[in-house]
Parts: sequence; structure tokens; C-alpha cells
Amino acid sequence: MRILVVEDETELATRLVAKLAQHEMNCEWVSSAEDAKLLDAGAFNALVIDLGLPRASGLDLIRHVRARGAATPILVLTARSSWQEKVEALNAGADDYLVKPAHVEELVARMRALARRAAGQVQPQLVAGPLTLDPSLKHLTVNGEEVSLTANEFRLLSLFMYKPKQTFSLNEILEHLYPLDQDRDRNAVEVLIGRLRRKIGRELIVNVRGLGYRLMD
Ligand code: CA
Repeated sequence: MRILVVEDETELATRLVAKLAQHEMNCEWVSSAEDAKLLDAGAFNALVIDLGLPRASGLDLIRHVRARGAATPILVLTARSSWQEKVEALNAGADDYLVKPAHVEELVARMRALARRAAGQVQPQLVAGPLTLDPSLKHLTVNGEEVSLTANEFRLLSLFMYKPKQTFSLNEILEHLYPLDQDRDRNAVEVLIGRLRRKIGRELIVNVRGLGYRLMD
């Protein structure tokens, strides 16, 4: 999953991004609502937004994202804990709310729940054709047979399974798989796609000429 974290406390944000990476969540971090507004919210599986930001507030950012029509799940993570503020954030377009300090496991579980609901999935597992992926256990079955995946193969397959109808360009796949400061190599992505295809069945990942890759219907 690719997550946008909007948080002005550097130390907290750095810790959060590192912890989320351990759960195969690739985060981009910005420290202001203004910077967040420059990004395409639709390119993320979920947004984690602090309410108390310098200048424009988190509430202002939530309203901005929704006004532009982005349906990306938004989880508010904030030190403010009054019920009025929770109501205000939810009414502005947030989907969930966690008060700091929050356990990262709870944050991860809530984001997975929001992302799979956004993907139209009822079960905690993601299902597409013969594939059943359990994101919390990193467990995959193909036609009921267990198949083990490397961390990168898991990240790639989850990208497709959270948005099963979407075609992803090589650049979008790179952004989802690797943090910004890492070397991003398009060939490595093609090799990874080849490896995943051999494990799950070649026909399940479709090459859309000139556009990228998507999951088979
Ligand atoms: Ca803050």
C-alpha cells in the first residue's frame, strides 16, 4: 500500500514512516497541508492526516481533497481528542480517527480495513479470480494452493488487488514499491512482474500496451 502521511512533527513522522515500512506500507511524508495539496491524493491507498498543521489545517486539507473528488480513504491522526473535533473531521470527509499516541498496529489495521472497503471487498482477504490474499498475514493462495511471496512480490500483488480495475504504469508501480530516496529501476519492476507471473499464473497480470499492467478481469 502507498500511504501519504501529512504530519508536521518531524520526529514522529520519521518514526511512523519507518514503522509502517515494516508492514509493507510505502509512505510519502509531507509536513504541511500546502505540500500535500500539490500531490494527487488518488495515487495513494490511504491518507494519514494530522489536524494541527502550520498555516492551513488538516481539516482544510481534508475538505480540499474531497472537493477535488478524490475518494481515497482518510484517517485522521491527531492529539486533539474532543468528540466535537472528531465529528468535525468526519463531517469534513475523513473516514476514521485515531488519537495520539496510537499503536502502529492499530493504525495499520484501520488503514487496511479502509483500503479494502474502498476496493469493494467485504472479507478481510482480498479476492480476485483464483487469488486470495490476506494482507495482515501476507498469505496468498492460488486456486486454494498456498504460494509464498517475497516482500516485493507481496507489495506488487497488493497494489493490483487493492485496485483491481486500474492499470498501473511502470512509474506508478515504482512509486508504490520503493521509497522516494531509493534507486528506482524500471527494469527491476519488469523482472519482478515476471517473477510474480510465474508464481501466480502468467495470464493473471495483463500487459496493457503502452499503458502498463493490471490484474485480469
Ligand atoms: Ca501537529
